[in-house]
Amino acid sequence: MQLPKYKKKKRIKLKICQEPGCGREFWGHPIAKYCELHRDIKQRQKQKKDVESIESKNIIFRHNYTEVLELNFKCCLEGCNSVFPIKVFPKQFVYPRFCMEHRNDFKRQNFLRVMRHRNRED
Ligand SMILES: [Zn+2]
Ligand SMILES: [Zn+2]
Repeated sequence: MQLPKYKKKKRIKLKICQEPGCGREFWGHPIAKYCELHRDIKQRQKQKKDVESIESKNIIFRHNYTEVLELNFKCCLEGCNSVFPIKVFPKQFVYPRFCMEHRNDFKRQNFLRVMRHRNRED
């Protein structure tokens, strides 16, 4: 008995890269998700996610100060008007977005929950 020929073929399909923004077509195994470039994990999302998390917790504060200064920043959390001091360093532009209290993810979410509750009662 002879095996049908197609069984010997490599199971290679034309796929589309799953990396957001890539969409390149490539030939790969049915389970392959990424094109040749994005098969390298270093080329994938992770880097982008790191940037996003930096921006979600920090602000970019552009300034021309040439000496260290202490400035008051306002907490960016909606409903929190806390002002907190921050040391601003020359040539450093990334600073915390939230007051001390709200730099903690859990406390921030809790605060938002309380605020929503309060708004409903008004
Ligand atoms: Zn790709
Ligand atoms: Zn705050």
